[in-house]
This record gives sequence, C-alpha cells and structure tokens, in this order.
Amino acid sequence: MGKVSLSGIKVVDVHAHPFSASKELETPVSFLRKLSLSVIPEMFSSIDRIEKHQPYPGSNMWIQLLLRSMSNYYGCEEDLKSIVDIRNKKAKDYSAYSIELFEDVNLVGTIMDFGYPQPPLNRKEFEKLCGTQVWEISRIEPVMTSLGKQNLSFDDFMEKYQNQLTRDLSKEEVVGLKTIIAYRSGLEVQEMNKEDAEKAYQEFLENDRSPAKAFRDYCFHIAMEACTKADKFMHIHTGIGDGEVVMTKASPSFLLDTLRKEKYKNTKVHLVHGGYPWMEEAAFIVSILPNVYMDISLQNPFTGHGVERIISQVLELAPFDKVMYGSDAFTVPEMNWMGVKLFIECFERVLNGWVEKDYMSAEKARYIGEMILYKNFEEAYQIKL
Ligand SMILES: [Zn+2]
Repeated sequence: MGKVSLSGIKVVDVHAHPFSASKELETPVSFLRKLSLSVIPEMFSSIDRIEKHQPYPGSNMWIQLLLRSMSNYYGCEEDLKSIVDIRNKKAKDYSAYSIELFEDVNLVGTIMDFGYPQPPLNRKEFEKLCGTQVWEISRIEPVMTSLGKQNLSFDDFMEKYQNQLTRDLSKEEVVGLKTIIAYRSGLEVQEMNKEDAEKAYQEFLENDRSPAKAFRDYCFHIAMEACTKADKFMHIHTGIGDGEVVMTKASPSFLLDTLRKEKYKNTKVHLVHGGYPWMEEAAFIVSILPNVYMDISLQNPFTGHGVERIISQVLELAPFDKVMYGSDAFTVPEMNWMGVKLFIECFERVLNGWVEKDYMSAEKARYIGEMILYKNFEEAYQIKL
C-alpha cells in the first residue's frame, strides 16, 4: 500500500451513455457481448468448449479485469457462469443493483450522451434508475438527420438547424453540444464555405451517413458558434471509437487549426476520449489553449492495464486542471462501476510513484486526484455538486 489513497473521493464521469433496465436474464455469451466494445457479433459465440484456465474466445484484458473484479465483489469463482448467475439474481431489481454499484464507487454524477443508444432514453428515468445526477450533451448529428428528412432548401435547413441548437443549449440540464464528425468526414475541418456546403448538402440528403464534408464542416462551425454564444461546451469525439471512425483523420492534431482561431478564443471545448490513441496530442492542445479540456474515457476502462500508462502519459504535458475522469460506459452498470475502480487503482499507482520519487507530497498527490475525479468538472462546468 502506497501513501496516497483516493478512496472516499466522489467521482463525476464526464462521458458515458445511458442504459435501460434490462428485464432479460443474461447468458454468459450475451453478457460478454454487452461488455465488449466490439461490434462484430460473432466475436463471442460459445463458451462451451473452453478448457480450464483458457480465456474466453475474443476476450481481452478489459474483460479479464472486469470478471476478476466482479468475482471479488460477489465472492464467487472467477468463472463466467457463476458470475452471471449471481448477476442475474442481483439485477432482478435493476435499479437497486445499479444504485448499489454506483454507490460502491462513489459515482455521484455523470454527463451523459443520449445520442447513443437510439431512440434516446429518458434522462429523468435514468437518473432514478441509478440514483445519480445526470447532465446532458446534445448531439448535432441527429438534429441534422431529422431536418434532412424535411426536404428543406439549404438556407431553410441552416436556419432551423441553428434555432434547434439554440433551443437545446437553452435547457438547464444540457451542458453542451456534441459532434461525431470524426465518424463521418474526419476532424480536419475547413473554414465555412457556403457554396461547397450547399453542394455537399445534396450528398447528405441522399445519404445522411455520407461524408458530405463541406456540409458537415459548415454545421460544425454553426455548432461552435452556438456554444460560444450560450457559453456552453462543445464536445468533440476524438480518437478511435466504433468501427466506422475515419481513423486517418481522427487524431486531435487535425483540430488545432480550428481551435486556435481568434473567433473560438472563448469557446469551451471538451475533447471526448482525449484523442486515444493520440492522447499526447490532446494533452498538448489542452496545454496551449485555455478553454480546451480533455477526458480520459473509453481508453479507461477499455485498455485494461493500459490505463496506468495512459494517466501517466497524459499528465506529462496536460495541466492538472485540464483533465477529467470518464468511462464511455454504454450498456450495463458494471461498466460504470469498473471504470471508476480501474481508474482509481491505476491513478493511485501513478500518484504513489510520484510521491516515492519525491516529486510531491502525498497531500498534493491526493489533491490532484480530487481535481481529476470531480473538482475540474465543477470548475470547468460551473456546477457545484
Ligand atoms: Zn461515447
């Protein structure tokens, strides 16, 4: 045991997705599928023929760490069948189980992206389900898609789009907008060009998932302007995600030209997923731009043991007050729970390393822990817990 413990500190998760209370019993395979970032359904097909000590086919370190933590928590064998049996009993009262897990790790608040799953879940119901405070970010792409179905001229589209963003941002529970442009045309956003945007609008109308780059870039700028006016955050998906991502244009460095424009000097920006696997680029960007922040989500917890390395790497350059905790949890409460557990365990190791090397006192190390776990959120988002 090191000198620094982060136990007892409250936690705010600045990027996760809501889940619903599932009534079905899980089987070992269905449960594995829910835990996986993978969208290939055949990844986990059967666990019937595996040998003792053999990892479940398709499983990785994240799954291994989660199963081990769950077996410790339940006091059962580290065996999927035993774990899922207990889990099914506990999850009969889904809300009680979710609240138990959230309380176990002191997870008191989350910024939720209701853009996934679709159709969107209800915020109030989700708040009740897990007994935590929930703030919302509003995705711009579903707004674009629904307006795209109305047969509007380009100018009418843009007027309605802008009005809708303004309305979304005026809601108290909405702390910002979010874009997944990295999944469609990439982060190398160009300046607004109406003529090109109008041409690309046709491409978008034919297929709302097409790149339609000039059109998306145009919509991106309008969203940035709306956030600037409302003094709320623009969340930008950076780095990898699901298999659709435009991987060659997903690293945060592509955003730098846009973010350092004079007109966005006061715009608050939140780099979702901290650009993983290019988190040093995100760390550099938040170190030079006063209103740009990053979180460590998705990479936590889905890189498993990698979380320790990542925290250490991000904090090579990123100011301590620019980094926030996140998980990107998206299906079951165990993900939200494991996100916190793994992050705290890895963060304590990093902080204790610094204290052992005499880089700082244990008190300062714990304070940095508090900053990343909730204080930076309170400060950046101007929300007192
Ligand atoms: Zn997400």
